[in-house]
Amino acid sequence: MTDGKGRTIDYLRVSVTDRCNLRCVYCMPAQGVEPEPYENLLTLEEITRVCAAAARLGISKIKVTGGEPLVRKGCTQLVGMLKAIPGIREVTMTTNGVLLPRELPALVENGLDAVNISLDTLDPERFLALTRCPLEANVREAIGQAVKAGVKVKVNAIPIEEYNGGGLAQLAELAKDQPVDVRFIELMPIGEGKNLTPIPGQEVRRRLEAAHGPMTPWEGKRGNGPAVYYSLPGFVGKIGFISAISQEFCGSCNRVRLTSTGYLKLCLHYNDGVALREAVRSGAGEEELAEVIREAILHKPLHHDFGGCETANMDHHTMAQIGG
Ligand code: SAM
Ligand code: SF4
Repeated sequence: MTDGKGRTIDYLRVSVTDRCNLRCVYCMPAQGVEPEPYENLLTLEEITRVCAAAARLGISKIKVTGGEPLVRKGCTQLVGMLKAIPGIREVTMTTNGVLLPRELPALVENGLDAVNISLDTLDPERFLALTRCPLEANVREAIGQAVKAGVKVKVNAIPIEEYNGGGLAQLAELAKDQPVDVRFIELMPIGEGKNLTPIPGQEVRRRLEAAHGPMTPWEGKRGNGPAVYYSLPGFVGKIGFISAISQEFCGSCNRVRLTSTGYLKLCLHYNDGVALREAVRSGAGEEELAEVIREAILHKPLHHDFGGCETANMDHHTMAQIGG
């Protein structure tokens, strides 16, 4: 469907939990956040029903996210349930990769189309400082296994001066000898991210070119989102930039988000949206849910205003609660 500003909305990010097995400095406080009681989380069947309603409106691509999606029991089955919805062409996942080696075979069996693995550094000590957990080797293993299994892999990294600014060129090398795209995502001033120093995409590019030579723009299609891709000489995979702050792309935004508690969120920046859990639990059918979703999407905000002043409708949740 199109929203009130004429943008095609065909992509839904579905957060299945607010819990996580890491504590990334830009996402969660060290002590974590008070988790939602389990009864507040949509069940797998309820998530599937909302997604089926959204598919009636033209949602065709779903990204399963979290918190860490793989800590949610039944997450692999959910992938199969979502793939079975008429109209859903693609189900992908964003994960920190820690549990991926264990879950990958079942995910592939259930039809997972691609995986985004978050990894900000190849240096074990920096990884520990960034995530507060010593599990860098698990994530490296996850990338290797996913590539071997023939799953499309993108590595997502958040460049932050204090933590990984010196290791970005090395991180990009994950794309050198294997079909892995490495994408640099600008830190957003959300939750814990407000207190750190983002490195803008242009500066990341400068650092990569200094180490690896000039980049050439890549025009081919590589995903559902706003990433801009480049080739580096001799690299098999591409290098992507998602620069929501320095190069706003709200005019072509194609997505809405469903939180683990069933809130349909229309824009990362604002808490505008609609709570669907009560409707789902009071027995609303797919058609009825689709109408509620349609009405909400018509009011999707025109653009974020992360550089602006605080507004009453600004969202104060962490990224782990929102789903990234
Ligand atoms: N746990 C999974 C993971 O890390 O991939 C999925 C959830 S996580 C919230 C989704 C994405 O949001 C990750 O790629 C993470 O790096 C990103 N993220 C978290 N906080 C962010 C922030 N303040 N600005 C930009 N991206 C952020
Ligand atoms: Fe967990 Fe992902 Fe947030 Fe890191 S970015 S704390 S892995 S939800």
